[in-house]
Amino acid sequence: MTTTGKKEFWFVVGSQHLYGEEALAEVKAHAQTMTDALNESGVLPYLIVLQDLAISADKITSIMKEVNYRDEVAGVITWMHTFSPAKMWIRGTKLLQKPLLHLATQFNESIPWATIDMEFMNLNQSAHGDREYGFINARLKKQNKVVVGYWQRPEVQKQIAEWMDVAVAYNESFNIKVARFGDNMRNVGVTEGDKVEAQIQFGWTVDYFGIGDLVQYVNAVTDEEIDALFAEYEDLYEFDYGTYSREAWEASVRVQVSYEIAIKRFLDDGGYNAFTTNFEDLYGMKQLPGLAVQRLMAQGYGFAGEGDWKTAALDRLLKVMSRNQSTGFMEDYTYELALDQESALQSHMLEVDPSLASNKPKIIVSPLGIGNREDPARLVFDGKAGEGVVVSMADFGTHYKLLISEVSAFEPTVPAPKLPVARVLWKIKPDFQDGVKAWIENGGGHHTVVSLNLTTDQIVSYAKLVDLEYVVIK
Ligand code: MN
Repeated sequence: MTTTGKKEFWFVVGSQHLYGEEALAEVKAHAQTMTDALNESGVLPYLIVLQDLAISADKITSIMKEVNYRDEVAGVITWMHTFSPAKMWIRGTKLLQKPLLHLATQFNESIPWATIDMEFMNLNQSAHGDREYGFINARLKKQNKVVVGYWQRPEVQKQIAEWMDVAVAYNESFNIKVARFGDNMRNVGVTEGDKVEAQIQFGWTVDYFGIGDLVQYVNAVTDEEIDALFAEYEDLYEFDYGTYSREAWEASVRVQVSYEIAIKRFLDDGGYNAFTTNFEDLYGMKQLPGLAVQRLMAQGYGFAGEGDWKTAALDRLLKVMSRNQSTGFMEDYTYELALDQESALQSHMLEVDPSLASNKPKIIVSPLGIGNREDPARLVFDGKAGEGVVVSMADFGTHYKLLISEVSAFEPTVPAPKLPVARVLWKIKPDFQDGVKAWIENGGGHHTVVSLNLTTDQIVSYAKLVDLEYVVIK
């Protein structure tokens, strides 16, 4: 459920009439070969669709207008086969409201020294055309991506694939709708923000609901529905009764099952794909939603605790970008400060995303010191290893700012038998002292979204597309 409908990208190849119809036919044939090969590579997550050659201002303008209104088109990839005078591109490029990638490549890999003549050089002058076209994009401040290299190389194709994920996330950003069950946690600063500005700048809709609106949905869930979903859990998770009787444990878990059904129904009825809860606002609820929230995060819904709608929306955005692989809401908790082992324990009071699990999660029931409710059920697991990117968004009063930090996640080796929550561990780059210091000095929050699937470059590409200030710590 990470995108609304099928997505594709349009491939627009630049040329001009100067070299005659024969040359244009060859350009078109080369473009078709490239399109087919890229689609068959298995590297690109979305299809590319070749368009008419871009050989006049009118043609370019009409293609870009169509890109704008077609919901299935997530962005445009351009390639300059020949020299394509860039004044022709000004109107269309200015009108284009979707991400643009300039693929600086050439049909032939090497220069054919034995046969090269002026005709060949005129037909294959990407180096010349790239500079003319790039100038206009730079002058128009288009914030387009430039990928350079031979189009058949896997590393070049991988860059296109990563940009496609960013472009789809950019498009889906305008479809992010956050339901807030309750307001922000009292007295907390970094989770606040300007919701109108977030809608203008990022396209996020953020709506408040009283927790009673959700309680009505919870009360409407039937025992049969709970039985059916509970049965699914048995295959997916270990059941750990701990010190509870089986009956008491099951009763607690069944409350969370009813929350999962109710929250999902509530969100789907309203077209919401992200949500927040607040342990201070649980009137009519027996438990703070824990296991239920974790299950919904695994399905692709964005989430953050304590009413933090900015992080919930960011979670949804990065889940779309990563196609919901190893990406989730996180909170900085406890430092490991032993020399040469410096790292940070990441968790939350319940709601750690199981897309980050390295082992089969177990369901446990345990008391929760805050919220003053019954003991909630939650999934407990160890986080997996991998190179990751940690992202946090804060409202600085005059503008939003994105903090991006690179980390190396590792699997814990020492058991923590009394820890009743999932744990994720990582080392901070460039080193613990400088990384933590830079994060704090820049005002980065304690709520983040981590991804072991995305790269800093992808996050920065998104930030540029929405004119968002960012700081990279690596
Ligand atoms: Mn929190």
